[in-house]
Amino acid sequence: VTKARVLVLGSGFAAFSFLRAIDLRWYDVTIVSPRNHFLFTPLLPSTAVGTIEFRSIIEPVRIAKGGVQYYQAACSGIDFAGQTVRCENALDDSVFTLPYDILVIGVGAANNTFNVPGVTEFAFFLKGVSDARAIRQRIIDCFERASTPGLPALDRKRLLHFVIVGGGPTGVEFAAELHDFIDEDLQGSFPLLVGEVRITLLEAMEQILNTFDTALSEYTMRHFQRQRINVVTGSSVVMVEETKVYLKDGSEIQYGLLVWSTGNAPQSLIRSLTLDKSNNHRLLVDEYLRLPAHHNVYALGDCATFPHQNIPATAQVAQQQGAYLARALNRAATRKHVGPFRAKDWGMLAYVGSNRALADLATVKGRGFTTFLFWRSAYLTRLVSWKNKILVLFDWFKTLVFGRDISRI
Ligand SMILES: Cc1cc2nc3c(=O)[nH]c(=O)nc-3n(C[C@H](O)[C@H](O)[C@H](O)COP(=O)(O)OP(=O)(O)OC[C@H]3O[C@@H](n4cnc5c(N)ncnc54)[C@H](O)[C@@H]3O)c2cc1C
Repeated sequence: VTKARVLVLGSGFAAFSFLRAIDLRWYDVTIVSPRNHFLFTPLLPSTAVGTIEFRSIIEPVRIAKGGVQYYQAACSGIDFAGQTVRCENALDDSVFTLPYDILVIGVGAANNTFNVPGVTEFAFFLKGVSDARAIRQRIIDCFERASTPGLPALDRKRLLHFVIVGGGPTGVEFAAELHDFIDEDLQGSFPLLVGEVRITLLEAMEQILNTFDTALSEYTMRHFQRQRINVVTGSSVVMVEETKVYLKDGSEIQYGLLVWSTGNAPQSLIRSLTLDKSNNHRLLVDEYLRLPAHHNVYALGDCATFPHQNIPATAQVAQQQGAYLARALNRAATRKHVGPFRAKDWGMLAYVGSNRALADLATVKGRGFTTFLFWRSAYLTRLVSWKNKILVLFDWFKTLVFGRDISRI
């Protein structure tokens, strides 16, 4: 029997859960992604300060499932009529073409800079492992540089100002992790500097954590106040320079580290496709996750949405979509039908620092230490492999006993 050729673009939540569930008895599967691993993003902010190590939350694509072909490349164009994709090798300039019978687009989203000048050049994003590693390095840099003898007080003050733009879950969790790092580890190593450290969280709207229940968002504001994290709402950044951000009201803020976390923009591939898209530039798909104009092409995760209902750009939705599509294709291979995709709401969780977390579930709104234990156990169960689960558990224990490593390597 000749198997249908399934080509998957991406190695994120959508692609990875698809890969795990697709039945290779019926399909020849090829993955193309510039990232050769799956990344469990919900724990990425923890790696940026060393609570968890980078390699504990990634899983190589090549070992995820035997019998699947993988190429480390980015798709740069799709010929829908000829059923081929154009790929650019991620490691050199070579270009190649791959054919498909079924195409699964799961390329995720890029960082949204809102076209604010200077962001791309000077801010750090928090999207991939290399971002988290660069942030971790920069935090230590700032402390080491701030302890230089004879450094003017104003320079020291600037280096020890950590500014985060975006009060969504990622910005909030990073601020919380940074606070813990400074409070629990850097206090001992830089006793003369910690008193001068400031963390500022800038949010353009009137509230942080807008997608969470209002009471939980207000709790976080009070909790951050106690932790001396300065939350500034209603303030948009209009320009970024190497050491300074400018706000809409004309004020300026000097910084040592700037982390930019203001949501999603389309990936260049999605931008280049002349297909129907939503207002926020996601591909429009039907209830079976197909492109209406090409029924052998599916789009999942952050890069796709429904025409009349904006699907949340979250890991849980992407994961459910990947598993749904694999099941649908497996059943189609034996001429069985699967109904339309329906997302289940598993609720939202966020870490807010000092062993406190939030849980916004359909039935319960939790916060505090017990919710923190729930947050940890929920993520431990959602990690994709036993190796990751054991490594993360070990990292948490290591951090509790020995603290986070502050070496600059
Ligand atoms: C720091 C952080 C924390 C988060 N925390 C949570 C959370 O707690 N809960 C939650 O539900 N969601 C969370 N999210 C959101 C979640 O990560 C995304 O919604 C989810 O990853 C979307 O899955 P995806 O498969 O669509 O895209 P991704 O997981 O982003 O994967 C996209 C893949 O496509 C690849 N790719 C990109 N361009 C191309 C191309 N041209 N060709 C081929 N491949 C390409 C990428 O390399 C990547 O492998 C978080 C996100 C971040 C950044």
